[in-house]
Amino acid sequence: MNIKFVDLKRQYQSIKKQIDDTILDCLNNTAFIGGEALVHFEKAFAEYAECTYCVPVANGTDALEITMKAMGIGTGDEVIVPANSFVASAEAVSNCGAQVVFCDVNPISYNIDANLIKPLINTKTKAIMPVHLYGKIANMQPIQQLAKQHQLLVIEDASQAHGARYHAKMSGYFGDAATYSFYPGKNLGAYGDAGAIVTNNEQVYNTTKRIANHGRIAKYNHEIIGRNSRMDALQASILNIKLKYLDTWVKRRRSIAKMYTDLLQNNPNVQLPKDNPVDESAYHLYVIQVEESQRDALQTHLKQKGIATIIHYPIALHQLKAYAHLQHKAMDFPVSYQSSKQILSLPIYAELTDEEVRYVVEAIVSFFK
Ligand SMILES: *Cc1c(COP(=O)(O)O)cnc(C)c1O
Repeated sequence: MNIKFVDLKRQYQSIKKQIDDTILDCLNNTAFIGGEALVHFEKAFAEYAECTYCVPVANGTDALEITMKAMGIGTGDEVIVPANSFVASAEAVSNCGAQVVFCDVNPISYNIDANLIKPLINTKTKAIMPVHLYGKIANMQPIQQLAKQHQLLVIEDASQAHGARYHAKMSGYFGDAATYSFYPGKNLGAYGDAGAIVTNNEQVYNTTKRIANHGRIAKYNHEIIGRNSRMDALQASILNIKLKYLDTWVKRRRSIAKMYTDLLQNNPNVQLPKDNPVDESAYHLYVIQVEESQRDALQTHLKQKGIATIIHYPIALHQLKAYAHLQHKAMDFPVSYQSSKQILSLPIYAELTDEEVRYVVEAIVSFFK
């Protein structure tokens, strides 16, 4: 059996007619920038994300950067970012001119460890950026408390958490803004790059919207110095179709995760993701942990059985060459460092069949026999 890590073709096949029609409409109307599709997406995604406002942008990294710029974060400021994330979370801070301050993560949730944030706060600290990694919302209550206490902004990187909930609320509820990526492999993926900012703060909405469109609202009336980070109309019209299926897809991800957990839970060699009763992970990824000495061999074994797996992420952010100037040692953030050696992401997407999930489980079990 051959199991891809993500199979975008299957999803396309399942909604082909609607996707083809909407792309043809765009071509026939030569509607490429702005227009109906964008107006619709802005409204539909705000509604989905249970936020008052949505600003569609070119990608998830821009969404972070533009949000921080709109909040006035820049040179001389510090932003606290988890050391276990995709590089974009840190990159966006650096590109604002601010200083990245890494924080270690919790070994169970893999998300920023709220207990470790406090000692990092000083007079330069401007914001905390929890990343809702693997589809699970970070432990937001203590983060909100700290932010309130120290008057810090909170930017939620929800790039992996479309459809996730914590205490019944979605991203954007907890922070001053949340950002999403619609990179093709995400829970809601475009057919190219796209992203969005969601917020309940009118000022954040107005400023991010202007920045993403050359500092203007109306044509040629450039009020501030902005940039071009528009989501294009083709992507918006594709996302408008796919958004209707997102809840169904997330539900299927959850049932696949449950299958993996049920079938693997008696295996002492494998540490499984743990669900907390207060959160509903959107299971963007299903990440297991095994002994460091066995991880790469397990990955090779699965590959030989036709199963693709990925490591998210093989190098913790503080260990990246790009952040060498911060002069961190590996064990400055021991949990992030150690998990990078032990984690493995199994295939998980709505179109994966029960039979395939069982095949992956059997292959893992056979490795440890
Ligand atoms: C995908 C991702 C991003 C960036 O999204 P792009 O759309 O690729 O720019 C940012 N943060 C995290 C955690 C991500 O997974």
